[in-house]
Amino acid sequence: MAKQLDYQAIREIFTRFQAGEPEPKGELEHVNAFTLVVAVALSAQATDAGVNKATRALFEVADTPQKILDLGEAALTDHIRTIGLYRNKARNVIRLSRILVEEYGGVVPNSRAALQSLPGVGRKTANVVLNMWWHYPAQAVDTHIFRVGNRSGICPGKDVDAVERAIEDNIPVEFQQHAHHWLILHGRYTCVARKPKCNACLIRDLCQFEDKTE
Ligand code: SF4
Repeated sequence: MAKQLDYQAIREIFTRFQAGEPEPKGELEHVNAFTLVVAVALSAQATDAGVNKATRALFEVADTPQKILDLGEAALTDHIRTIGLYRNKARNVIRLSRILVEEYGGVVPNSRAALQSLPGVGRKTANVVLNMWWHYPAQAVDTHIFRVGNRSGICPGKDVDAVERAIEDNIPVEFQQHAHHWLILHGRYTCVARKPKCNACLIRDLCQFEDKTE
């Protein structure tokens, strides 16, 4: 695990991320808060591209909790059967849709606690939804962010909670909103797991990873 980078280095890194991509976006397709919750819940241990392929047709026919209930579990399962753990995920989407209809008037709640009380929605999913839909500076730490944070020293931590705290504590406020997507995109396309592309990396001079590729 790298040492935590200092304030000036972090500021410089995010200034460069911002210059490279001023408005970074998530890649999960959705049409409203509800479909975002569903897409994020489906994306656990699956790629965004794989989820999008399945949800495009699903959201055409069912983009509200009531429509998902009307569709039913069997048809929902059929729509998402290309996604890993699809049976379990379909069950959770039905259960969370029922709770949204019965307890929230069909409207997705926007507190972390309320979101996390929904079946299949953990802290990470809640943070993604808070960040992407309500533009709240919540930090969802996925495998990419965990890797980038620990290699570079941007936000090192022994587990995802520690990395989440390191982001909140060390990244200047004006970069907090987009930090999530800048770090994910950096991990997905440059600081990749097996052989990071250090030669093409725009923060190479600031990164503390000792085994940079040539
Ligand atoms: S220099 Fe290499 S290890 Fe460091 S952030 Fe860039 S790609 Fe990752």
